[in-house]
Amino acid sequence: MGRVRRIVLTHFHEDHVGGAQEVAALTGAEVVAHGLEAPVVRGEVPGPPPMYEDGERPLHESALRLLPRGGFDRPARVTEVSDGDVLDFGGGARVVHAPGHTDGSVGLHLPRHGVLFTGDAVAASPFDGSVLLGVLNTDRDRAVSSFGRVAALDSELVCFGHGDPVTVRAGAALREAARSYGADV
Ligand SMILES: [Zn+2]
Ligand SMILES: [Zn+2]
Repeated sequence: MGRVRRIVLTHFHEDHVGGAQEVAALTGAEVVAHGLEAPVVRGEVPGPPPMYEDGERPLHESALRLLPRGGFDRPARVTEVSDGDVLDFGGGARVVHAPGHTDGSVGLHLPRHGVLFTGDAVAASPFDGSVLLGVLNTDRDRAVSSFGRVAALDSELVCFGHGDPVTVRAGAALREAARSYGADV
């Protein structure tokens, strides 16, 4: 395995944090999250639950059943970042605060390469690859406006927390999808 220096957690949800401490312990990597997520990531406070929309409660319950019994080890040390911070990789990776999926959700934008990581602010359908608003949001209205915010960024390649990346003209695909949810972009 190549040297892993940094693990950026886009938000506190278990499917994103679950293996972080294990990988950090194996590699010595730094764990990074938004300041609003860090206490949840460290396990100091419980994460706020999502506001369920149609069909989301069974989806969430089935996902939670996949968690290991007794939980998982949590990173004790988390480097806290906020909107506009630039991480030293990929020619400069800018932290983009995208609240709504969770309060401290972030994306990462690498303008030099036209690459965007959205976390769960945006997702791709597992069925047809279409670009969608993330599910299990704590605040849907904020999530829609964050969708617009990340869609406005100049990006050619977009990677999601869930679903295959969009590799061609991704920014345009995101803007079209964000508008279909009413985002002003
Ligand atoms: Zn999530
Ligand atoms: Zn997720």
